[in-house]
Amino acid sequence: MKKLDKKKVLEIKSKKDVKNFFSSEVKIGIIGGSGIYNIESIKNVQEIKVKTPFGFPSDNIVVGEMEGKGGVYKKVAFLPRHGRGHHILPTEINSHANIYALKLLGVEVLISISACGSLKEEIRPREIVLPDQLFDRTRLRKNTFFGEGIVSHVTFDEPYCYDLRKTIYTSCKNLGLITHFGGTYVCIEGPQFSTKAESKVNQQLGFSVVGMTALPEAKLAREAQMCYATIALVTDYDVWKEGEEVNAKKVVENLNANVENSKRLISLVVSNLDTEEKKCKCNETLKHAIFTRKDAMNKKTLKKLELLIGKYVK
Ligand SMILES: [Zn+2]
Repeated sequence: MKKLDKKKVLEIKSKKDVKNFFSSEVKIGIIGGSGIYNIESIKNVQEIKVKTPFGFPSDNIVVGEMEGKGGVYKKVAFLPRHGRGHHILPTEINSHANIYALKLLGVEVLISISACGSLKEEIRPREIVLPDQLFDRTRLRKNTFFGEGIVSHVTFDEPYCYDLRKTIYTSCKNLGLITHFGGTYVCIEGPQFSTKAESKVNQQLGFSVVGMTALPEAKLAREAQMCYATIALVTDYDVWKEGEEVNAKKVVENLNANVENSKRLISLVVSNLDTEEKKCKCNETLKHAIFTRKDAMNKKTLKKLELLIGKYVK
């Protein structure tokens, strides 16, 4: 990375700016959830303000380096989903700007960290779930980059990148963290926690964890052709379990306990990640997914989505 004025917040609006400021693209992105507003092991940090056609992300993005195998440093970008100080409701998160901004920086692999409630007896508070499925119960969120003259239907049968999940799982095992490989994350609108009736229905349907932020983030990451996986940090048993009702104080205590583990985990995951030799097909998602004929595309929308679909509309 070039020698930059660390105190100054850089403003980035285009790929050209990224090229000017950083010698190479930032391939690894991390979105932190409740309790995770910075990651101390990211060194040589530069704060950047990114302007996107969808507005501004949740906060300035921190770009820095994390140590990988053999002392090789890897560039990472970190963004706190609720903003520093936690002032953005799940419904209010501008996931479009968040994902677009990370894509602009060059992010190909996106690790999402989320606090969640457990819907299964065997998934205990302070454990980790790496979901392989999602169930959408949100109601108030726009969940695609497309529309306004350009139609795309991406596949979403497997919403998470298996290879990335596997790398995270291996890292969890190395650290001795109790981790469940697979499970369904049900995303509710919030901001209130579930009622008992809702929680019991989610539990009876066999879902594993409940949270408020996986969507539309996961859908937009897919449309942006990123490898995406969620590290779900269990804070409580939601409210389906008799005698284990959600208690905000307990949730915060478990949350804080999870935060340190997840920070150690992120360092190891970044170290273990191989962004050069990816075997998955996440970066080809849009290849056959854009249905609109080029000459029928809305020009304004095309300009807005150039970063995402440009290479398929040449
Ligand atoms: Zn992938």
